Amino acid sequence: MIKFEEALKIILENTKVLGKEKVFITEALGRILAEDIYADRDNPPADNSGMDGFAVKYEDIIGASEENPAVLKIVAESKAGGDQVKVDKGTAAYIYTGGLIPEGADTVIQKELTKVEDDKVFIFQELPKGSNIRPQGGDYKKGDLLIKAGKKIRSPEMGIISSVNKPTVYVYQTPKVGILTTGDEILDVGEPVTKLSQIRTSNTYALYGQILEVGAEPVVLGFAKDNPEDIKEKLSYAKSCDILLTTGGVSVGEYDLVKDFVTEVLGVDILFWKVAQKPGKPVAFGVWGKNKEKLFFGIPGNPVAAMSVVETMVKPAVRKMRGEENVINPIVKAKLSGGYRRKKGERLEFIRVALEITDDGFVAKPFGRQGSNILTGMVYAHGFGLVDIGVTEIKDGETIDVLLFDTDFMKKEFRK
Ligand code: AMP
Ligand code: MG
Repeated sequence: MIKFEEALKIILENTKVLGKEKVFITEALGRILAEDIYADRDNPPADNSGMDGFAVKYEDIIGASEENPAVLKIVAESKAGGDQVKVDKGTAAYIYTGGLIPEGADTVIQKELTKVEDDKVFIFQELPKGSNIRPQGGDYKKGDLLIKAGKKIRSPEMGIISSVNKPTVYVYQTPKVGILTTGDEILDVGEPVTKLSQIRTSNTYALYGQILEVGAEPVVLGFAKDNPEDIKEKLSYAKSCDILLTTGGVSVGEYDLVKDFVTEVLGVDILFWKVAQKPGKPVAFGVWGKNKEKLFFGIPGNPVAAMSVVETMVKPAVRKMRGEENVINPIVKAKLSGGYRRKKGERLEFIRVALEITDDGFVAKPFGRQGSNILTGMVYAHGFGLVDIGVTEIKDGETIDVLLFDTDFMKKEFRK
């Protein structure tokens, strides 16, 4: 049995970034940029005004004051999108935000410091030369590298990509993640219960959600009964996936069945089985495909175990495949409220905790029932508190690491 850290290392070492594809800007949100983005022009492309007011020659407003305003003749108008106009000594031009600075002008006086009478403007204050002018190239220059490949595309990046006139952009491809649910007892939603021992699936759709959350494309490969024919047939549906997840049937006894079949049907090389973690100990991992570029995760059936394996092992692999640089969920320090005890300290334990922000930092409260079959414990949990190997007791108020999967608890009233 290997340690979690070792397992994660094996997973990430065997995970390859997918190829590139072109998408429209409008489809790029959340994707990872696969090309560098350069400026096609200076921005602003020419000196323009940061205010509504008057473009003047500085020399004409020297010494202007309330008592002794400068009086200039209005000779032109410069609007955003308009042509460049001209001012000479003793004249001014109306100018609007974004309007080109007129030839001959070097300063903009905002409207609030002026008064207009007929074709004259009275300027009541001297401003420093160059005031309210946004200089050409002040944001960036033509040819500047604006966004490096590898950056996650959020809304500012969408804005920049469009502003350099790119309707489409290269991003890394989205992994397709097949989910095969196994177990004689498992029913899909809508199937009638005919026996008391039947269990309605939660894993299929909990995992589906987790795969969507991490920016990949989930594919339901179906529900296989615990018999060779059914498992083999449904495993064959995985061929066009980048990652195959199976749930159920990897515990002792059943495991060999699944292992033999993923190897037989898909050519999976199993790289590890069983990790010193709780829940999720009997997880299996392997690689397959022409260049062993595809991944297989054999995930135990217990719902919390299934979700924690996806959160801690599958999501990092998906992030790497889709081109992300930082692949681990955020981990924060939190004070454990009420403490935690366990009999054995043989495995790294992921305990479900609810978090709160206090003036003292994060406080984590473990849920009372931590069984790997208690899915309701996930509903109000925000993260997994990490209880290390060798630790059997954490005292009330002691600090632990919490791996986050929900940050909504951070949303509060403004500055409260
Ligand atoms: P297994 O890993 O197949 O031994 O399953 C362990 C436990 O998880 C059993 O109690 C199963 O009934 C349960 N289980 C397996 N698959 C699912 C599923 N898709 N949804 C909910 N529970 C499941
Ligand atoms: Mg089973």
